Amino acid sequence: MKHTGIAVAIDGPAGAGKSTIARAAAGQLGFIYVDTGALYRTIGLAAYRRGIEGTDSARIIAMLPEITVDLVYEDGVQHVLLDGADVSAEIRTPQISVYASQVSSVPEVRTYLLELQRTLAREHSVIMDGRDIGTVILPQAQVKIFLTASPKARAARRCAELREKGEAVTLEEVLAEIEARDEKDASRAVAPLRQAEDAVLVDTSDLTLEESIAAVLQVIETAMERA
Ligand code: C5P
Repeated sequence: MKHTGIAVAIDGPAGAGKSTIARAAAGQLGFIYVDTGALYRTIGLAAYRRGIEGTDSARIIAMLPEITVDLVYEDGVQHVLLDGADVSAEIRTPQISVYASQVSSVPEVRTYLLELQRTLAREHSVIMDGRDIGTVILPQAQVKIFLTASPKARAARRCAELREKGEAVTLEEVLAEIEARDEKDASRAVAPLRQAEDAVLVDTSDLTLEESIAAVLQVIETAMERA
């Protein structure tokens, strides 16, 4: 089935399985999957490379006009470019997660990335995942899902993912990092993580990956039938 001009917003905390689930659902529907966390991670990486602290808002704001951030798609796979170079792998470290979370609370960073996200949704049918897609970026999205899971379930998944990539991490470390990021994402002044009023809640704590994908596809199909 191929639909055009549909926007599906999936928001939720770190490690709820958003990216894996959204990517799979997008593949089945023929939509583009947009991972917006990659954009904040890329700004975080740019700051890190320049030796700028993630909390140094003034220097981060001054850096923005000096960099370019783009998303490109090859065979449906997203690549994020920093100044034209593919940094998709480099942005996936725990250190850059912290930078991403820090720079994402700078309002100028969010404004800088806003139009890029909206343009993608104008030009393609998308499943876009992030923290503020249903609330700020695409408030008119036809389908909104708030995808969550208990902190423990999310930490266990993230831990397995990182270990697969060869990172030596403990469950306690990952749980602490997830809880700290949740707290920061939910309590920040600009675009805090919260469920949009018209979003459907999907809790994946007790669902397998296949069940989670099926649950999300079900919400999308039901919403599209009504639209
Ligand atoms: O989704 P991911 O874990 O890659 O996101 C990294 C960080 O970027 C998050 O912790 C969050 O602070 C920020 N983010 C955001 N808004 C989005 C996506 C990510 O603030 N739409």
